Amino acid sequence: MAAPHGELKRAAVPNAMGHVVLSFAERTLRPDELAGLREQLWRSQTYLYVTPGPLLIDRALDGFPAEVRALGARCPFFRYDARGGGGYWPDRNEIWLAAGVETYEGLRQVRLSACHELFHFVCWNHPRYRADEDRGFARLRKAVAASRSVVKDYPRYRGWVTASFLRQGDHANVVEYFADIPTNFRETSELPPLIAAHFGPLIRHSGSGCATSMASCVRTSRCS
Ligand SMILES: [Zn+2]
Repeated sequence: MAAPHGELKRAAVPNAMGHVVLSFAERTLRPDELAGLREQLWRSQTYLYVTPGPLLIDRALDGFPAEVRALGARCPFFRYDARGGGGYWPDRNEIWLAAGVETYEGLRQVRLSACHELFHFVCWNHPRYRADEDRGFARLRKAVAASRSVVKDYPRYRGWVTASFLRQGDHANVVEYFADIPTNFRETSELPPLIAAHFGPLIRHSGSGCATSMASCVRTSRCS
């Protein structure tokens, strides 16, 4: 997929009103009612709420270490007119995320999707992690391989690998693994020690609430 070009801009007042409606709908409607509302809204391609890029970066990286937040804040992050999809384009060093993610996938999902894409950006722009990416993720692959015998002792990690990550088909690759770990694990104690050590600088001190994302990845050109 080629990177989108047209940024969708939203006026502040309708956007704020849309946020009230969307969060109310998410809290009060049954899943089938919410699905029905979404289908109705999509007939007129309505976006109730679209988080502006810089604000979404701030929300997605809430609780991550200051260095990661500062790096993420440098990322050009745009919203565009589509129901779903988007990604990080390393050739442009930009993230483009569909404007429909909040309305059609949910307010929680948009933070997870943004977090995932931001860690593609972090990987590409952080000297230490970029050096490993340039060597085909040799250090990370080694940490994962050397952790095999202890994975059974980390049930949440093992469950995520088998029930979620490996089921992504083409997406179950090392580039996606890198972006998924900080998105899904905010406590290094849930990870095998060598993997925890690799990601430690990115997630240490993050503490607050752990996210479990079943389908955090939106399709990106990173993965093709
Ligand atoms: Zn990805």
